Amino acid sequence: MRCFRCVNEIVELPSNDPARVSEHYVYSPAFVVEVLPGGPGGASGECRATVLCWSCMHEVRPDMWLSEEGWDADKPGVPFSQLPIYDHDTDNADEPSTYRDIEVKPRE
Ligand SMILES: [Zn+2]
Repeated sequence: MRCFRCVNEIVELPSNDPARVSEHYVYSPAFVVEVLPGGPGGASGECRATVLCWSCMHEVRPDMWLSEEGWDADKPGVPFSQLPIYDHDTDNADEPSTYRDIEVKPRE
């Protein structure tokens, strides 16, 4: 799947794949981060989920979550309005693979 921000391909390995913990650690894991709707102060609405690659995760340095404004400011591959809903009631909301069907277009 692709990173929702930089749109680079994220190669995921099964958690039991030894390559994931080897010294040749070339595969970027993916991270799910919540994006909260509204500007400063927040607004009511549903949280969205975004999938970030390792590199974006470190560039953005989210403090548990990101704001809609902050997210869109970086002109991500998937704008806030197209991010999937983050469903707090499901067990797999934090699994990147939950969002693998989201279309990620190249950045302009
Ligand atoms: Zn990225």
